[in-house]
Amino acid sequence: MPSANLTMITPVEHCRSCGRPIVWAETAAGKRIPLDPEPSERGNVTASLHTGVLHAGVVRGPQRDGLRAAHQPLYLSHFTTCPDADTWRTNR
Ligand SMILES: [Zn+2]
Repeated sequence: MPSANLTMITPVEHCRSCGRPIVWAETAAGKRIPLDPEPSERGNVTASLHTGVLHAGVVRGPQRDGLRAAHQPLYLSHFTTCPDADTWRTNR
C-alpha cells in the first residue's frame, strides 16, 4: 500500500495551538478543516486531492466500515485530536 500520509501530497502547516503537523482540507460545504496528516484507526474523514485542493468527506456507519474494510485511509479532524481543542472552539 502506498503511503497514505497527506504530507506527501499537500503542504504541511503546524497547529498554532499544539504545534503538531496538520494539513488543510475543504469539505463539500466549502468549509476548511484541519486534518491530522496520518491516517487513524478511529478516522472518519476521507481525503482526496482534486485539482490541487484537498477535499475532505466525513463518513459514518456502514460507509465508514466499508471503506475501512477496503483499507482506505481514513483521517481525523485535528479539532478532534488537538490537545488544545478548546482554544480552537473559543477562538472562532
Ligand atoms: Zn493542535
